[in-house]
Amino acid sequence: MTGIVRTGFWLGVYLAAVLAPLGLLLVAPTPRGGGFWWDTAMGLGFAGLAMMGVQFLLTARFRRATAPFGIDVIYYFHRYLAYVLVAVLVAHPIILILINPAQRAYLNPLEAPVEMTAGTLSLFLLLALVVTSAWRKPLGIPYDGWRVAHLGLAVAAMALGFYHMWAIGYYSGTPVVRVVWALIGLSVLAVVFRVRLLRPWRLLRKPFRVREVREERGSSWTLAVEPEGHGGFTFEPGQFAWLTLRHSPFAMREHPFSIASGPSPDGRLEFTIKELGDFTRTVGEIEPGETAYADGPYGAFSIDRHPDAAGYVFIAGGIGVAPMASMLRALADREDPRPHTLFAAHSDWERIPLRDEFERLKGHLNLEVVHVLEEPPEGWSGETGWITHELLDRHLPENRDEMEYFICGPIPMIQKVEGFLGELGIPTSRVHTELFDLA
Ligand SMILES: Cc1cc2nc3c(=O)[nH]c(=O)nc-3n(C[C@H](O)[C@H](O)[C@H](O)COP(=O)(O)OP(=O)(O)OC[C@H]3O[C@@H](n4cnc5c(N)ncnc54)[C@H](O)[C@@H]3O)c2cc1C
Repeated sequence: MTGIVRTGFWLGVYLAAVLAPLGLLLVAPTPRGGGFWWDTAMGLGFAGLAMMGVQFLLTARFRRATAPFGIDVIYYFHRYLAYVLVAVLVAHPIILILINPAQRAYLNPLEAPVEMTAGTLSLFLLLALVVTSAWRKPLGIPYDGWRVAHLGLAVAAMALGFYHMWAIGYYSGTPVVRVVWALIGLSVLAVVFRVRLLRPWRLLRKPFRVREVREERGSSWTLAVEPEGHGGFTFEPGQFAWLTLRHSPFAMREHPFSIASGPSPDGRLEFTIKELGDFTRTVGEIEPGETAYADGPYGAFSIDRHPDAAGYVFIAGGIGVAPMASMLRALADREDPRPHTLFAAHSDWERIPLRDEFERLKGHLNLEVVHVLEEPPEGWSGETGWITHELLDRHLPENRDEMEYFICGPIPMIQKVEGFLGELGIPTSRVHTELFDLA
């Protein structure tokens, strides 16, 4: 399937899932409608509840469903759909109150029946969910605590919304509609069970052992792990895994990191991790022999998804070199003869993670490495400043539109470089990006 067909297919699946409960009302026997606006409000309520259910599926990391897009795109979809879902669900009571202002009384928990209060509470929890997610950083909420609260709020909002719909049972009272909603409810429970219990349990049974912790330039560390008593997993170079260290996989303390090594027959994985916050600052303290859990592989950021290129161009900012190292190492192992270019943007020469490794790879590949330094050392004759249109133009080969492009780095850099590549005539279908920021 081509990218557009695949996207269309999965969007179709999404719409079908969200609209199925409404479609059912057209075929199942239903009570008399309450007029256009009343029915519209009910329809929005049903669609919103179904959308809430699908939100759980989107972040369940189903490999087959997420593989065509890359999981980062799915997480962004999850985030933006949350805004749509809140708008849909907020419209549900607003329309009802506008057509019958007496229904305002349902917002008062002292007067309202319990199923109405459940609906109101569900909506408030949903709003809290969106506010704490959209403004997590400005509100200073630590990531780990936020994740636990996010799950708790989501499950509570879904359960209360479900109870509200089920207990009122006006359009959802007929047996066939009840069965479908019971299946939707059970699917959500099954997803939560799979993600929070089954998958951690599987990870627990397939531990990895830390073999090496190497200090790298630029306040970063390479952590090497090997599977213990199992074969590990195969991955495409450039993909990533969720890594748990010093915690049980049940603890929800996992962090996503690109696999920086190339595929290896013994299942060894290397991650190059920059010290940035609470977790990453402790990586240097990890001792060889400690247990690690790696949930992967995920992501679509890989040369193996685009094997027919005339060559590859990697454009990295800071620790964005990690997935590029994986892809270049794999190309070297495969003795790939095509021409490749790595643009690596850094603050200064001494802080370029994996710099020596890229020098080594030049000996095994037809590889040009272009370091772009913000603060070049004295006597530096290479590129300086930021990656620009002109800089790319200077180094890209004649057949630039036959190459595949991989960009990973800070979001503003990615956006700028995407723009420059567009100006240079590179088709967007040949430009692939990885964001190190899911939440
Ligand atoms: C697909 C992907 C690949 C990545 N690959 C690499 C890599 O190869 N090398 C590297 O150094 N970094 C990589 N990162 C970034 C890395 O995951 C974060 O820097 C790290 O999780 C920060 O954790 P912290 O506790 O040290 O920092 P904190 O200061 O606690 O967090 C900084 C920010 O990182 C994000 N973050 C924190 N914890 C998590 C988490 N568990 N899951 C998702 N995001 C989180 C949050 O937005 C947070 O605000 C990658 C991220 C993604 C999404």
